[in-house]
Parts: sequence; C-alpha cells; structure tokens
Amino acid sequence: MIYREPAQEIPVFGTYDVVVAGGGTAGMIAGLGAARSGAKTLVIERMGYLGGQFTGFMNTSWTCSDQIKRCVGGIAYEYFQRIEELGGVENPDYDRDAYILYDSERAKYAITDMYEKEENLDALYLTMVTKAIMEGRKLKGVIIENKSGRQAVFAKQFIDCTGDADLLEFSGSHYEELEPENQHPASLIAKISNVDVEKLKEYYEARPKLQKGERYLGHLPHAGFYGFRLAEELEGITLPEELEYLRDWFILFYSTPNPGEMILNMTGTTALDGTDAAAVSRGTDMSIKRMWQVLPLFRKYVPGFEHAFIAATAPALGVRESRKVIGGVRLTCETILNAQKYPDAVCSYQSPLGYHTPDGKDITFARMKPGTAYDIPLRSMVPADVDGVIAAGRNISVESKACGSTRSMSNCMTLGHCAGVIAAWAAENGREMREIPNDTLRRILKEQDIYFAEADNETTVKE
Ligand SMILES: Cc1cc2nc3c(=O)[nH]c(=O)nc-3n(C[C@H](O)[C@H](O)[C@H](O)COP(=O)(O)OP(=O)(O)OC[C@H]3O[C@@H](n4cnc5c(N)ncnc54)[C@H](O)[C@@H]3O)c2cc1C
Repeated sequence: MIYREPAQEIPVFGTYDVVVAGGGTAGMIAGLGAARSGAKTLVIERMGYLGGQFTGFMNTSWTCSDQIKRCVGGIAYEYFQRIEELGGVENPDYDRDAYILYDSERAKYAITDMYEKEENLDALYLTMVTKAIMEGRKLKGVIIENKSGRQAVFAKQFIDCTGDADLLEFSGSHYEELEPENQHPASLIAKISNVDVEKLKEYYEARPKLQKGERYLGHLPHAGFYGFRLAEELEGITLPEELEYLRDWFILFYSTPNPGEMILNMTGTTALDGTDAAAVSRGTDMSIKRMWQVLPLFRKYVPGFEHAFIAATAPALGVRESRKVIGGVRLTCETILNAQKYPDAVCSYQSPLGYHTPDGKDITFARMKPGTAYDIPLRSMVPADVDGVIAAGRNISVESKACGSTRSMSNCMTLGHCAGVIAAWAAENGREMREIPNDTLRRILKEQDIYFAEADNETTVKE
C-alpha cells in the first residue's frame, strides 16, 4: 500500500560547507577532518552520542599494526592517545601485532571533549537523515527528522558515514548489496560485569585443546581476547532443544580496562538485512534472548563467570555488512593480500581479513605479509553516478570476503579523516571530490600524518 505525502514547507536548519551523515566510527572523525581543514561542518547522528559502533555500541578492540609497526596515524591515532590519557586503553603498544582493548565509555567522553574544542564543528544528535535533495545528479541538501520536526540542511559537499550508505540510497545512486543470507551476520554486544578474569585466564591456559577456529590471546597483563565454542564444556550435558545451537556456536569475548568487565560478542544474527527496520527489530529481540540463554551456561560451566551478570546491552544490533558504494575501483581479497597500490590512494592499511561466515558459526582469518599494507583508492569511496557525496566507513566498495579488513574501526576512522579533508577541499575550491589531483591529495594527507606504505613495482597498478 502507498500513501502519497502532501507537499509542505519546512524550515531550513542550516547551510554548511560540509555535512556528515552519521556520526559513528568514521563520521565522528570525518567531522574533525573537515572542520580542521577550515570547512563549516555539521555531523548528523541518529543516536544520542558520537562514535557509533566504536563507543555506544560497545566494541572494545581495535588493531593498528602491520605486524611490525603502527600503520594508523592522523586524527584516529590522536584519538587513541586521548583515550589512553584517560586510562581507557588496556595494552597501549600500537606497534604490536595485537588487539588493543579499550573502554568504550572513556572513548565516548574523549570524542565529546575533542569536539568541544573545535570552532567550525557542530553535532546534531537524535536526528535521522531521511531524504536527499537533488539537483540533477548533484546532492544539494538532505531532509532531517527529529523531535523538532522535519527540516532541510544544505551543504556544498556531503559525507555518507551511515554505515548503510543511506545517503547513496536516498540520492538514487546504484550500490552493491548482497542477499541477506550471504552477508556477514549481525551481533548485539553485551557488557558482562563481575567476571573473575584471573580465574578465567587460568582456566584457558590449562584448557587442553583448542577446537577448530578457537583462539586465546591471554598474554595481556590482566586479561585477554578469546574466541571459542562451548562444545567441550557442554560435553555430556543435556540441553533443551532450543539451546542445542550453543554447543557449536562461535563466541567471542574480550576484556576491557575496567576490573571484572568483559565484552560478549556472540549472537551472530544471520540472514539479516541491516537496512530493513522490521528485520532489525526481530533480530534485536532474538539477540537479547540469546544473551540470556548463554549467560546461565557461562555461569555454570566456564570458570570465572560464576557471579557474572549482564550490565548493559548495546542500544542497537551491530550490522557488519549492508549497502556498499559502486565507484571506480572495488577492493578484493586479492588486491588486499597483494598489498595493491593506487595513484589516488587516500591511505594504506593492514589488518586481518576476518570473515564471519554467513551461517554465524565461524570466523576465518587471512593475514597479509608482515610490514606490508594495501592502499584504499579515492575511487572506492566516490559513487560513479552521483556528485557531491563520498562514502567513508564500512560502506566503501569492497567484496564481501574482504570487508572484514576494510571495515576495521581504525581504518573507518582514517577513511573518515580523509573524506573530511577531501570534502573540505572540494567545498573550498568549488570542485567535485573526485577532481582532487592525486599529488594534492597525497601531499595534504601526508601532512596530516595519514599512513602511506611505500609502493614497489610489483604492487603498483599502472594507469
Ligand atoms: C558486533 C560487531 C563487532 C565488531 N568488532 C570489531 C572489533 O572488535 N574491531 C574492529 O576494528 N571492528 C569491529 N567491528 C567492525 C566495526 O565496528 C565497523 O565496521 C565500524 O565500526 C563501522 O564504522 P562506520 O562508521 O561505517 O559505522 P558505524 O560506527 O555503525 O557508524 C554509523 C553511524 O551512522 C548513524 N546513522 C546510520 N544511519 C543514519 C541516518 N540515516 N541518519 C543519521 N545517522 C545515521 C548510526 O547511528 C551510527 O552512529 C565489529 C562490528 C560489529 C557489528
């Protein structure tokens, strides 16, 4: 059924140089990148805080090493250091090949504090971008909706950091989206308190064998990062039919800098279209239920969890994969593992290609050669068929099996920084973002401490 909405006059909230849709992992840094480049910038965010998956959704592990040295710089690195100053990082050795564990609440405060110091930068919370205002193929404005009603916002350039490429959908751009049953599963994260982390660590160190895909990184002073199944603990135990899935279910949990606190990431909600609100609602209900199914088993069968409780669940389901831009270059496992270089690179990056199998039962990892890094070209961020908008974050152009690397949070932040700089350049020069000359792009980004790996002849694409 269709309802035809009557045309109406609505107020204009403001006119900016750069507007960022979505103030999550990439978007919060995009706002800083644009504002520090001199652009009057607005970040529009549907939740009541900045940071998306990195803060309120309670992820607490990032990677930023090429297995030899740190390969993330710029505002992302500045932000990590700010979180560290607040005592929010468990193991701050950024050169080391490890998951860096952090506290998402300190991360939320750190970004709020960084925003407060910026002159050109505004953030508008609890606001959805719901529609694009087009002039031909050029995005000129967006419609926003919040408690104040419906308003329009205009800008010279837009950055789509919604994760789901909402702006591309609204502007009529073609995008890539796999069938839900072929996408990486979504997960709701929970914060578990009152875990005896030392006891847990002793248990895992003594545990005789790791099963397929299991890993235990217990080398950290107080804690670790664990990926495991409950099959061994549940051997010989009779379970109700609806809990049988838990024997073989892949569960991740990792510690935070807060005593007795662990993050549980296990719900693997499969075949979910992250852009379908009704499907996401049902997926969220199921994930909350699963959380409460697994906790009693943890308490009974995993030493250290005896007195643990669920302190909080994330405000929404975390979606790993949905719509992605169709630009001039699509990154693949091959381009990543071969450390491919491009003349229009915005940065270089390395992190494992973590592939969450669509059935939710496993995560496989492919690793790059230590010390190498692949380029992310501007053309994988700029849609081919719409002007005035660039994508940054997990929505860039990349094949599904490879997006586990490009969507890593440190990379999303770097892409946000780069997109902010590029959008500010285009706004100032009255040009399109795809028109920034390669040498200008690299010079400005290098000046801002963005990491570029040196190209060698074998990995450079000649164009
Ligand atoms: C459960 C889970 C665990 C993960 N674990 C890790 C990990 O340990 N380490 C790691 O590096 N990566 C991890 N990832 C991947 C990583 O978190 C994401 O790929 C990354 O955070 C995506 O960044 P983003 O900016 O694209 O999206 P997000 O951080 O999700 O930001 C998108 C923002 O846009 C807002 N938004 C969306 N639509 C609109 C709209 N229409 N209007 C206004 N605002 C809107 C959202 O509220 C959100 O704040 C995990 C992902 C998930 C789902």
